[in-house]
Amino acid sequence: MTKHLFITGGVVSSLGKGITAASLAFLLKQRGYRVAMQKLDPYLNVDPGTMNPYQHGEVFVTDDGAETDLDLGHYERLAEIACTRNSNYTSGRIYDAVIRRERAGGYLGGTVQVIPHVTDEIKAAMRTLHAPEIDLAITEIGGTAGDIESLPFLEAARQFALEAGTGNAIFLHLTLVPYLRAAGELKTKPSQHSVATLRGIGIFPDLLVCRTEVPLEEDHLRKLALFCNVPPGQVIEELDVRNSISEVPLELARQQLDVKVLELLRLEPRNLELEPYRAWLERVLHPQHECTVAVVGKYVRCRDAYKSIYEALAHAGIARQARVRTVAVEAEELESGDPAALLGAVDAILIPGGFGRRGVAGKLRAARYAREHDVPFLGICLGMQCAVIEFARQVCGLSDADSTEFNPKTGHPVIDLMAGQRQLTDKGGTMRLGSYPCVLTPGSRAAQLYGTERIDERHRHRYEFNSAFRSTLETAGLRIGGTSPDGQLVELIELPELRYFIACQFHPEFKSRPRSAHPLFVGLIDAALQARERENR
Ligand code: GLN
Repeated sequence: MTKHLFITGGVVSSLGKGITAASLAFLLKQRGYRVAMQKLDPYLNVDPGTMNPYQHGEVFVTDDGAETDLDLGHYERLAEIACTRNSNYTSGRIYDAVIRRERAGGYLGGTVQVIPHVTDEIKAAMRTLHAPEIDLAITEIGGTAGDIESLPFLEAARQFALEAGTGNAIFLHLTLVPYLRAAGELKTKPSQHSVATLRGIGIFPDLLVCRTEVPLEEDHLRKLALFCNVPPGQVIEELDVRNSISEVPLELARQQLDVKVLELLRLEPRNLELEPYRAWLERVLHPQHECTVAVVGKYVRCRDAYKSIYEALAHAGIARQARVRTVAVEAEELESGDPAALLGAVDAILIPGGFGRRGVAGKLRAARYAREHDVPFLGICLGMQCAVIEFARQVCGLSDADSTEFNPKTGHPVIDLMAGQRQLTDKGGTMRLGSYPCVLTPGSRAAQLYGTERIDERHRHRYEFNSAFRSTLETAGLRIGGTSPDGQLVELIELPELRYFIACQFHPEFKSRPRSAHPLFVGLIDAALQARERENR
């Protein structure tokens, strides 16, 4: 039987519930438990796929093609747990299911209500994690205790725990204990209030995890335990980590959070072996080299918009014991002036995915700069499309070459809408999404880096390299490094004359892990480190 842990948040958002949840899951996995994870998001969008990155950060894509919350990226990276469509539900998705059932006559004349119909739908979503091969399911409830919109989720969790019975479902509340600098004091009151709110809803947290910037003292722990109705041993401190989120699991293990969870769920503690992880972390924290990568995008003010990209760059750095500094370059700023002013001092250039015309001219200039100055380059999705457009314009002389996304009337649509996309009118969930196989060209740089010719990578796009232009571009020196198994869709291109110039239609960043960096990113960082040495930077 699968046991359940619910994680709620209090006082403020952005406390790092996803990181805490993933770190705990990692520890439980290290103890030999099979763990599944899920995030419930209170907003009414059916999924975050249609949201602007400024609203919600990056859209994370799973193998099975779900467009999800970026916390799933933490689950996959930190806990190395594969997520699916069942790993993320929004209120919109829940209501959508309820309303569709109502329209189909599924409620047999009944009045459809939040309780029990919406809460039943939420409980069914929670149960999608239950399986014979899963010992423990962790559900993170988005939002903050007291928010109107997260109430149905909390109510469903309360019912769920009651039905599951003692020892089968528990609650962990992540809260903030703020430090008031002027008074030189830590304050427990906000946490007391947020737990009081939860208790009003009928949820009595079993564990309290306190985010704090200064260590809690015995007195604070006692006070938190007393006012929050939690045994003192079940109050855990989660101090801000100094260097890397990879330190969080060790911090939680030191206080035996994982053991406490297992005790409450009446599961054996089993053995925990953290030495290899500690040794690995030591290397992470003490890099021997460094390099700088420019990320040319249009949401550069918001680091979360390119979360997995920055993570994947850091992972490749870890693989080479290098600190990777990133410079976020606003694509529009490259549209005028000399690109060398912004790109002259970097060791590599990366153009990530994106949508819409804004900033594209700047991205084209960045791709051109990389090609003309032989700066190591990785283009991802829109980044590949820009590299192709730039090559067609400057090298093949097709001066109006473009993507029909930006110029539907171009005479040279080197990037064009996929056939299946033309009739679509709905924007949500209708792109080419999720994992697709790709066959790499024997002898290509990519095949060399991957060490295999058959790969699977995740996608999220509507437009494709237009095969009508394949031979024109190939004749001019562009190499098709990978295609769909039927050879129809171009998935990866290279400029073999250059030191490192690779661009792919898929999103390699989603499959990079701290302890197994992605080959295309490792290739980029290797090339960047060499460039730096060459330039004597
Ligand atoms: N806008 C482009 C497309 O839809 C690229 C998408 C992306 O970069 N994720 O094909």
